Amino acid sequence: MYFTIPEESTTCFCDGLKDIRPDIQIFGGVACSDDITSDDSCVFSKTDGFSENSILIVFYGGEDFYVDSINVTGWKPLGRKFRVTKSEGSILQELDGIPAYDVYHKYLNIKNDENFFYNTLEFPLFYEHNDTTILRTPVASNADGSITMTSDMDIGSVVRISYGDPGTIIESIKHDSRKIAEFAPDLLHIFSCAARRTFWTDKEPTYEIEPFKEISPSCGFFSHGEFLRTNGNLNQHNVTLVIAAMREGEKKAPAGRMGRTDEHSLSKVPLVSRLATFISVTSLELEDMNKKLELVNEKLKTAAIIDGLTGLYNRKEIQSQIERSLIKIGEEKFSLVMLDIDNFKQVNDTYGHQEGDSVIIGLADILHNERSGHVSSGRWGGEEFMMLLHDTDAGAAAYIADLIRQCFANTVFPSIRPQTVSLGVTQAKAEDSLDTLCTRVDAALYKAKKSGKNRVVVV
Ligand code: GH3
Ligand code: MG
Ligand code: MG
Repeated sequence: MYFTIPEESTTCFCDGLKDIRPDIQIFGGVACSDDITSDDSCVFSKTDGFSENSILIVFYGGEDFYVDSINVTGWKPLGRKFRVTKSEGSILQELDGIPAYDVYHKYLNIKNDENFFYNTLEFPLFYEHNDTTILRTPVASNADGSITMTSDMDIGSVVRISYGDPGTIIESIKHDSRKIAEFAPDLLHIFSCAARRTFWTDKEPTYEIEPFKEISPSCGFFSHGEFLRTNGNLNQHNVTLVIAAMREGEKKAPAGRMGRTDEHSLSKVPLVSRLATFISVTSLELEDMNKKLELVNEKLKTAAIIDGLTGLYNRKEIQSQIERSLIKIGEEKFSLVMLDIDNFKQVNDTYGHQEGDSVIIGLADILHNERSGHVSSGRWGGEEFMMLLHDTDAGAAAYIADLIRQCFANTVFPSIRPQTVSLGVTQAKAEDSLDTLCTRVDAALYKAKKSGKNRVVVV
């Protein structure tokens, strides 16, 4: 396929060709003028003549005709991954919640000026899409911090900044040329991104495709976007070499240096490549460390509000929940239940502290069962507990309190006789402060103790 420069994103066009018979190879490029930033572009054919707005499709085939198409970039991913969090078609708005331009500015110090396009050429985005990795160069940066790409960037997809380093690119092309040589093509059709020509500035324009010269004759042009079908999906690429290898008849003996590994050049990894590996590994380690820190943070947050022995809220947390409920008392009534285990000193004295703990946990387990969104329970201190019952008046709270009392009295401990608990109940009033409310529920509990324990008193 030979395109003129499309006015809009090519995503719809690519998606539309999905259903073409899977064994047909699809490849092509967008015709480009000498000036990479110019919109001038044309295609022509014998039958339809000249056009500035067309797609020319050439069909190759034959009884004994073989074609294989691949893409080669040589660009390597650099550093951390970003998720596309906001985009609209080919306008990439946000990566990980920050404006896409800011990513280029922050990590590469690329300015939003007339050189933005040239500066980002060396650092296109590695874009995982349709199960393949695509290079995408920003076409322009916009005033709102978004950047315009040549094709749609789906929200949720993962991108990484990539870098092009001459040594690494040449190594990569040499490596891929061996794969192409194995196909033993009669000719190569090469669509090379014009951005690559710009990238190689002082080199002869076809410098980087030297390794293909020994394989077979080749032809091609510098393109403004390259097309290739991979895994059944047609994708538009940037900064890429799309190569169609063609052959008639069975494989002949492979030409050129095929199979010969250039050991010397492989062992001499360019410095930039080593630094890029260093950056990638370091950022992966940082990401890993961040995840661990997040976990620790979560645990710390929990530890700050939860009582270690019982797993109930601690006093500070239940107090602040009561304070929050007091602020909203106009919208929702609530009640408190305060609990204190009866004659607990005796338990400790008779059975020891450890057995005492198991009694505290026994009562906490009952309160835990009550901890829905409607009820919060906390350890107030020692063997005292506080329950906050939302949308509950004193009568209903007393009913629940008595169920807890009965449940605790019937709890069997392995080596201790059954224990009892006293409970005070009160409903919050509009004029209450944390202090007055807690004093009142404490007074209710005191009355329960005074009047014989193992009972519920409402004040
Ligand atoms: P009352 O029925 O009047 O409540 O009598 P009591 O013996 O339970 O008296 P009080 O509530 O004042 O006793 C609290 C005791 O609880 C005192 C302290 O030794 C014990 N205690 C406080 N915290 C813990 C704890 O974490 N574990 C254990 N095993 N004992 C505790
Ligand atoms: Mg007590
Ligand atoms: Mg007690």
